Amino acid sequence: MNMPVALVTGGLGGLGTAICIALSRAGFVPVAVDLPEAGRVARFREALQGHPSGTIDCDVTDDAACRRAVEHAESGHGPVAVLVNAAGITRDATLRKLEPAHWEDVMRVNLGGAYHMSRHAMHGMVERGHGRIVNIGSINGQTGQFGQTNYAAAKAGLHGFTMSLARELAAKGVTVNTVSPGYVDTEMTRVIREDIRSRIVASIPVGRIGQPEDIARVVAFLCEPGAGYITGANIPVNGGLFMSF
Ligand code: NDP
Repeated sequence: MNMPVALVTGGLGGLGTAICIALSRAGFVPVAVDLPEAGRVARFREALQGHPSGTIDCDVTDDAACRRAVEHAESGHGPVAVLVNAAGITRDATLRKLEPAHWEDVMRVNLGGAYHMSRHAMHGMVERGHGRIVNIGSINGQTGQFGQTNYAAAKAGLHGFTMSLARELAAKGVTVNTVSPGYVDTEMTRVIREDIRSRIVASIPVGRIGQPEDIARVVAFLCEPGAGYITGANIPVNGGLFMSF
């Protein structure tokens, strides 16, 4: 019998690879859908330690490429049971200095990418009466952040997308949720200036920056068969940095 496939956009990135490892342990064949880069593909393969997995070159801003990525995954690996939308970029600047191209880029990848991938991956899930979509949001989508009007708007919008799609697919056995990480130790946060980074860490109640595994374990939990009653939720994983109810 085919093992269920989990597509993870941005799967070659810091969080994406950790999510792939967690989903592999949970019995899925993780397939990283990401921009091509030979070195990172090799690192990904090494991280998966020979367990069944795949990589597909795909720009998530390109709708036709996303359709082909889903088709390729289904024909090459098996039925897609999980989609994790983790591809994301930052293009930080205060609004005064924010160029239209940097607004567009962030919207097209962080929000548009989830639209393109979800719309193609959901068909098989609906047909089979089971599926899991997890969108990776951000604490900064919940609180806003200086210099991130583009990123915060895209991430806040992503949860609106989650809630709406959750309603559309709930009766079909497909759940849709957001996981909103706080600050996690990946390439994305290594570019933050050291003094700012230290200040952020000092303000995190658990006293440390998050590790990719902290996020990955929550994503894997949401993808379990028993998690079918959780849908349209936003699960914060931020070390207590932002608490709300
Ligand atoms: P990384 O930069 O390590 O990973 C992001 C991945 O997405 C990269 O492999 C990147 O490729 C890929 N990507 C970018 N654009 C596209 C595209 N058009 N099509 C396909 N893939 C693309 O970042 P993280 O792992 O840290 O972030 C993963 C997600 O988690 C993002 O959505 C981010 O916003 C979110 N997040 C991260 C936090 C953190 O602290 N790290 C906190 C909160 C949320 P390339 O490197 O070539 O651009």
